[in-house]
Amino acid sequence: DSKLTEKNINEALKKAYDKYKGLKEGANADYIPALDKVDSNIFGIVLVTVDGKVYSVGDITSEVSIQSISKVFTMALVTEEKGINALPDNVGVDATGQVFNSIYAIEQNKGHEMNPLVNAGAITTTSMVAGKSYNEIWNKILDYYGEFAGRKLTVLEDIYQSEAATNQRNQAIAHLMYAYGHIEGDPLQATDIYTRQCSVGVNAKDLAVMASTLANAGTNPVTGKSLVKAADVPEILAVMSTAGLYDDAGKWLYKTGLPAKSGVGGGIIAISPGKFGIAAISPPLDAAGNSVRAQKAIADISAALGGNPYEVQ
Ligand code: GLN
Repeated sequence: DSKLTEKNINEALKKAYDKYKGLKEGANADYIPALDKVDSNIFGIVLVTVDGKVYSVGDITSEVSIQSISKVFTMALVTEEKGINALPDNVGVDATGQVFNSIYAIEQNKGHEMNPLVNAGAITTTSMVAGKSYNEIWNKILDYYGEFAGRKLTVLEDIYQSEAATNQRNQAIAHLMYAYGHIEGDPLQATDIYTRQCSVGVNAKDLAVMASTLANAGTNPVTGKSLVKAADVPEILAVMSTAGLYDDAGKWLYKTGLPAKSGVGGGIIAISPGKFGIAAISPPLDAAGNSVRAQKAIADISAALGGNPYEVQ
């Protein structure tokens, strides 16, 4: 790929970093009290090509909570365990047009016709991970995320405690999904494991390696390990395209063409299939709940490198 040279990549990263470093728009999420205390100045961008080369600029060591970006990887886990139809059959693959923790979206179709990347679908997805005990399920999820990142990940305990103490809305969502017959097992256990998965600490490099695995047909290009069947990756990317940035998914796709996923911790991952995975972290969010600087930086870098999959080179 002619645009994807080392020089171009480094230049694009540096240019975007310098351009948005001083941008002060947006605000940390504060509905989870501990997120409000995270340093708003953290800003790092990492791009990993499908041949496993890592390019970075800014802060690539500070960890934030992965939050909703985790939903993609639990979706991948359930898809691998239960087959490609399990999630479409149970929660659907449609955008809700509502906020990520919408209860109205559940009521519209009794918990069908949503997707694994909004809270109701995601908590249900977590409930579908096979395992006999809480610990067996949780360890499997955490280990699987670690395989994507290429290193062992851990929970940011203060974030977990803070969200677990204030996640009554997610508990209500889980109970509703249970009442409509979507959740397997105990809805409160599913909510708690979901809360824990959202509290996993990641830096910008972890997220970019995770993204690059999806860009590379499900094989981590850094470790060489296959984590998702190549045939299952397009469906995961499709849901990221329609629902990855919540209610702004359409605007994002229009601008970049990239399947992506944001989290309220300030991270965003995006995938240029067959080319690269990219991630940026910056905690301040816009009104839709997406990191302001991460969106702008990724959009600029991808445009400079011909990342839009709809664009014929
Ligand atoms: N843990 C958060 C929640 O459930 C995740 C939301 C997000 O990142 N959009 O509210």
